[in-house]
Amino acid sequence: MNKKQKIDLDQLKKGGMVKLNEKDMFSVWVRTVCCNMDAKKLQKVADLAEKYGRGYVLFTTRQLPIIPFVHIDDVTTVKEELEKVHLMLDRCGARVRNTDVCYDANICSYAVTNPISLGEKIDQFWKNDPGGRKIKTSIAGCSKQCTSPRVLSDIGFVGGEKGYDVYLGGRLGLKPNIGSMVAESISEEECVSLLKNYVALIREEKWKGKRGADVVNALGVPAVKEILNKNLGEKHSEKAFLCDTRQDNKIEDGKIILRIRATCGEVTSDQLRKIADIAENYGKGFVHFVLRGGPEIPGVDKSKIEEIRKKLAEVNLEILDQGVDNLQTCFGAYCTNGIMDTQALLKKLEKIIKKLGINDLDIKISASGCPNSCGISHLSDIGFLGVIYPIVNKKTCTGCEVCVKACKVDAISIQNKLAVIDYNKCVWCMDCINACPFDAIEKGKKGYSVLVGGRGGYSPNDQRGGETKLGKVIKEFVSEDEALEIAEEILKNGKYKS
Ligand code: SF4
Ligand code: SF4
Ligand code: SF4
Repeated sequence: MNKKQKIDLDQLKKGGMVKLNEKDMFSVWVRTVCCNMDAKKLQKVADLAEKYGRGYVLFTTRQLPIIPFVHIDDVTTVKEELEKVHLMLDRCGARVRNTDVCYDANICSYAVTNPISLGEKIDQFWKNDPGGRKIKTSIAGCSKQCTSPRVLSDIGFVGGEKGYDVYLGGRLGLKPNIGSMVAESISEEECVSLLKNYVALIREEKWKGKRGADVVNALGVPAVKEILNKNLGEKHSEKAFLCDTRQDNKIEDGKIILRIRATCGEVTSDQLRKIADIAENYGKGFVHFVLRGGPEIPGVDKSKIEEIRKKLAEVNLEILDQGVDNLQTCFGAYCTNGIMDTQALLKKLEKIIKKLGINDLDIKISASGCPNSCGISHLSDIGFLGVIYPIVNKKTCTGCEVCVKACKVDAISIQNKLAVIDYNKCVWCMDCINACPFDAIEKGKKGYSVLVGGRGGYSPNDQRGGETKLGKVIKEFVSEDEALEIAEEILKNGKYKS
């Protein structure tokens, strides 16, 4: 790939069209507003996936739908077709990303603040993208933290009785970090002021390309707190953009949020049309995109559950009301960074779980094709990460240092004009293998790292207790079969409850 192509791919990525492993194939990331999408728009996404993709859509950890396998020649057409129903593509790469929110307070009975209302203000604020870096924001309406704002976002807002607690520095990926609390019990207006202070801070040249975690780790929590909490009382004149799925009234008694199982987040076009139809006829007319990839339809009458179950069965879908929580993955096998086929792993694991008859919805399992952990492997009771062992070929390495710059954990140095990998620092990600212009870093063994004990939120009533935490690696470089055996063993003896 020459430099021009690289620039073009970056531009496409920033505009929501991300290259896949297969030649000329892209994934199209469709933006959601407040992580919801109405039935008419869903129908359009289903039609486009059928016509220009491979007939299915992914419900992803980014809380939006992705149409995979669109040919490069068709991506512009798909974008234009989406615009006809007022859908835009999401922002990817080094940009401010879609704000992730959980439910409107009028829908979720746990919510103590209204995440939609704050989300509207934040989306308005982020219309001015400061550029040059990835910034993720997410909001949860209570301490359950369904959007995992403390880990998945540079700036995460967690609703409490007196307002929002704010966390800076969450991220997954190669250097995962749990965000630190930088403000306590502040109002929506104050949250926007805090974002303004953050943007003013990171505009300094030294923070170019840096994430919230880098800022908080370099300056320390007290200093960051002081900077971010300046003049929070300022009034904002901008009119907040309004989410069209906002609810004016409390959801009626007897109505629930219907969860649908979608293993690996995969939903065919026919299934998506059925989901849209059910949302229209039995729910509030829209679907909510959740972190763990199972579509949710709010506002469904409990008395209609069996009727809906039959309708879902017509397209091989089931309600997520028993078994283990939805098994979620990233792109896995078809990502350009993918090392392992996570879809294959999780589909086999699902069969094992069914065979074991495990009916605990509170068990969370997810997989990522590489250590970037886009499939939130660090935040699950059992998580899998694809890993690979890099080996420098001393005969072909020129000592050019490209790999040194590509390695995000500083595991490579040049010694006597040769790249040397510090395997104590290496996180087995393949970035150096992909970056070397001379193919001088070869692929060694590959397999899965198995993690246990991660959790993305906090539930005061949870017997396991405790706070948000990152899963710990218990085994590295295991084959798919070994990964399945380990998972089965853990599930049988309940050791996932670390
Ligand atoms: S975790 Fe790796 S394989 Fe999965 S989507 Fe992210 S970069 Fe791709
Ligand atoms: S990028 Fe390749 S050739 Fe250059 S130093 Fe690294 S291993 Fe050697
Ligand atoms: S040495 Fe290579 S595989 Fe290891 S962390 Fe660095 S870039 Fe990733």
